[in-house]
Amino acid sequence: MSHVLHRSLVQNYPTAVKGDGVYILDANNKRYIDACGGAAVSCLGHSDTEVIEAIKAQIDQIAYAHSSFFTTEPMETLADFLAARAPGTLNSVYFVSGGSEAVESALKLARQYYVEKGEPQRKHIIARRQSYHGNTLGALATGGNQWRRQQFEPLLINIHHLSPCYAYREQLADESDTAFAARLADELEQKIAELGAENVMAFIAEPVVGATMGAVPAVADYFKRMRDICSRHGILLIADEVMCGMGRTGALFASAQEGIEPDLICIAKGLGGGYQPIGATLVSDEIIQTLRQGSGFFQHGHTYIGHATACAAALAVQKRIESGQLLDNVVRMGELLQQTLVDQFGDHPHIGDIRGRGLFRGIELVKDRDSKTPFDSGLKLHAKIKAAAMQQGLMCYPMGGTLNGKDGDHILLAPPFIITEAHVDEIVTKLNLAINQALNAL
Ligand code: PMP
Repeated sequence: MSHVLHRSLVQNYPTAVKGDGVYILDANNKRYIDACGGAAVSCLGHSDTEVIEAIKAQIDQIAYAHSSFFTTEPMETLADFLAARAPGTLNSVYFVSGGSEAVESALKLARQYYVEKGEPQRKHIIARRQSYHGNTLGALATGGNQWRRQQFEPLLINIHHLSPCYAYREQLADESDTAFAARLADELEQKIAELGAENVMAFIAEPVVGATMGAVPAVADYFKRMRDICSRHGILLIADEVMCGMGRTGALFASAQEGIEPDLICIAKGLGGGYQPIGATLVSDEIIQTLRQGSGFFQHGHTYIGHATACAAALAVQKRIESGQLLDNVVRMGELLQQTLVDQFGDHPHIGDIRGRGLFRGIELVKDRDSKTPFDSGLKLHAKIKAAAMQQGLMCYPMGGTLNGKDGDHILLAPPFIITEAHVDEIVTKLNLAINQALNAL
């Protein structure tokens, strides 16, 4: 019996022993093609020699130095790299160990900014239903995914949740993209009016929604409208790019694809590609100048901030992506993956939607395509597909519905940026077998 407290207390997990490009090998030498990067993490696959060498070289120098005492070269260089490529005036980078910490840091920076600016009454955060921003209590409170939050609810701070920009489920049959975006913008305006604009601190959203919906981009105009409303009311816009950022959608920052400049951007996953745990919050000059002129101190911190080995790994990952022009491959293979999914599943009676951007793709399973009725959540179709896929030697990221009664099971695909045409074929062939095997067993 394992002494590890795994997420599932009843399931047995195969032991991963080796990485080989886009494959993971288990202790029985079985190969799994990683079609989801774990949870959209492993953007360079599992055996990139340049990254591994960079990690070794850093450890030979110094593995870690506490950030209250020292800065380090990899931390400074990585921050320069990110600031040079981030939208607008996001010129300061706060390094943490993962996505939840990046979101917590963004929320605390937003709060401290308003306290030091003399607007301490700004306490309200507006987010969206069916969203996920992390599992720590603050980040969990921010998300609207009922499945994840319901049993912790008495501990969670009160956050206001609006409709997500989820075209397949929320857009009306005869509604244009512009009208849909306008309706959601009105909802934000109304919520702000209800709370009093002077009391609202931040609006947070994922530019392309990952874990709760399965790669759902917003309709055109939506984020521009949200940005505009936030700016008019002095509300900070936080883009949670923990999953969709760092090249996953074909650009380093998904917000840039939306043509907006957030006040804060949270990144993680693809930043270090899983070679080391690392996340970051990118912060605007306005926020930093306010804190610099105020207390001169960010009232927050974790032991592993700016971990030198993690920063060296992330820098090597990002340089590899840039020098190998891998974002071009993300766009090309992303289009091929979408097309192959449509060819395979376009007429499938139980696949209602195939969507996404870059190498971030999702399919939504439905009992009935016309009515978009989901399968009963008790059937746990997503978990059955995951189990069947693992049998086939395929890793895909399954999700159940978010318990709002509207949506059902999704499968998220987020393969490494180095995949080829042959990998796309292998992924879709195995996914087809796994989905049909799971459906037949219902
Ligand atoms: N935000 C988003 C959008 C995420 O997808 C996740 C993780 N799935 C997180 C935050 C939390 O990141 P982590 O698991 O690294 O804490």
